[in-house]
Amino acid sequence: MRRAIASVALGVALTAGLSAVPAQAATVAPAGSAILAGDSADIQSAVDEIRALVPDLESRAAAAGVPASDAVQVVRQLINPGDYDCPASTPLQDWLRGTLQGLNQQQLGAALTLLLLDVVTWDSRVNDPQDPAVYGPAGEFTIPVTHTFKDLRRFWDIDSNGVLLVPMHGSVMVDKARMTRVFQVVYGASAANAARLADLVAQLVRSVPQFNGGDFPLFTFNSYATSAEELGGRRIAMGDGVLAGYAAIGLGDVAPQAILAHEYGHQVQFADDLIGSETSPEASRRVELMADAFSAYFLSHARGAAMQTKRVTQFLGVYYNVGDCGFASLSHHGTPAQRQRTGEWAYSVADSARPQGFILPSPTFGRMFDAELPVLVAPDAS
Ligand SMILES: [Zn+2]
Repeated sequence: MRRAIASVALGVALTAGLSAVPAQAATVAPAGSAILAGDSADIQSAVDEIRALVPDLESRAAAAGVPASDAVQVVRQLINPGDYDCPASTPLQDWLRGTLQGLNQQQLGAALTLLLLDVVTWDSRVNDPQDPAVYGPAGEFTIPVTHTFKDLRRFWDIDSNGVLLVPMHGSVMVDKARMTRVFQVVYGASAANAARLADLVAQLVRSVPQFNGGDFPLFTFNSYATSAEELGGRRIAMGDGVLAGYAAIGLGDVAPQAILAHEYGHQVQFADDLIGSETSPEASRRVELMADAFSAYFLSHARGAAMQTKRVTQFLGVYYNVGDCGFASLSHHGTPAQRQRTGEWAYSVADSARPQGFILPSPTFGRMFDAELPVLVAPDAS
């Protein structure tokens, strides 16, 4: 699964205070035990019971691509961090961290357990979207997202039949039928355990008032694209949290289009076999920067989104904000500067093309990106 734009920002959130929580289940609460809102002992018992029912949660999460611990990342370190300028944070990451203010350690622990279960992502992969699908916490991004999806399908030269666009709403965590299915299909739980886990997830969500019934940005601070070979098939998912975050920092006018075009870029990569088989931070950086390039080319092209100067500057800021300094991470997306530079390069390709109406074949554009990549990731430490 290509986790777009925000998995590393999620990693930032995890390390910002969510990791110091008990990992092992202590006791198993009796089935059906009541969990009262806001009672810290009951938050703990729900966490403990989930951990007991899913004892290998950390290793499962790691296998599914949830950000690995810092220790593991150091072992895997291949890119020299000293080569690159990288800011400690970005406005988007600051905003996300701000949403965690006021949560105590136990509530952060509850959030971590829900994130490791990754039930919202899994829901969007194995369950059908609610009909009609809406995008954004209040449906406010439905029009730009659905229109841009149509435009992308027209713009790029791949067969897009069967690519399913889906939202990610945190409120699915309190939907018993959807969660039960996730635990059966993804976790292989028995019908009884799956139903119990669904109850526990809902109770955990409801036990922390700030989680707002699941509509809490941290739970959907993500977007992704999956290929035909993966569970759920060819999908693109757009999380409410990341859309809300960009709106909060003033980029709501371009972020839905830029994020979706990045994810669609992954679908182009799947179709054109541009991903490669290597698993490393450099390989991830290449794939992710290429998706940024596909995105920026579409956004600036006269037959794509045809964005003009002001909005080009804004969408470059979208990439910048989800750059990361996870040089050892197998989901490294490139630094903020590299992501912005990649967008600038793709914009220049679209802007300097003559005639303006010509759209490069996607494999050609991919080759042009690969030729430019050494320039885009050249050391830039000052
Ligand atoms: Zn991506």
